[in-house]
Amino acid sequence: GEESRIRAISEAIRVVPHFPKQGIMFQDITTLLLDPKAFKDTVDIFVDRYRDMNISVVAGVEARGFIFGSSIALGIGAKFVPLCKPGKLPGEVISEKYVLEYGTDCLEMHVGAVEPCERVIIIDDLVATGGTLSAAIRLLERAGAEVVECACVIGLSDLKVGCKFNGKPLYILLEPR
Ligand code: AMP
Repeated sequence: GEESRIRAISEAIRVVPHFPKQGIMFQDITTLLLDPKAFKDTVDIFVDRYRDMNISVVAGVEARGFIFGSSIALGIGAKFVPLCKPGKLPGEVISEKYVLEYGTDCLEMHVGAVEPCERVIIIDDLVATGGTLSAAIRLLERAGAEVVECACVIGLSDLKVGCKFNGKPLYILLEPR
């Protein structure tokens, strides 16, 4: 059943203490990708959730949001739009800065990738503070899109499934192990 699928997905994710620096419990989804059944189950759960929601765009956050996001986009028959770190996209872009623990970072999206009023879901592997997803929401809304939901495989801290995040629903598949 659903519960055993989710348990297998959780067990396929490797936890690496103190990466990339002291004190971080890094949730390594590359080991999930080595398990075709668990990877497919992960994608299928999101596809089942979004297939009948009239979603025309899946936006994925670089880099691990590309892996899940593009697979989900194919599964629901939507476009995939990459949200990239600065300097990666060759065309005209709009950008959104966001604050990190030390310094700032930025996400960029191609102008014209999304039409006004398109219904979008935003995908990343993991939400921690939510800073990255907040920037992604702002980027899509500036392009006139309707952000229906943000979704992640793993949710850190006390974020709960079904909670609101920047006014948008946030869907989380798993808590960290
Ligand atoms: P945040 O903006 O604080 O929500 O951080 C989320 C982004 O940082 C995502 O793109 C994650 O891939 C990455 N990230 C943050 N913390 C971790 C962690 N413990 N393990 C793996 N990735 C992380």
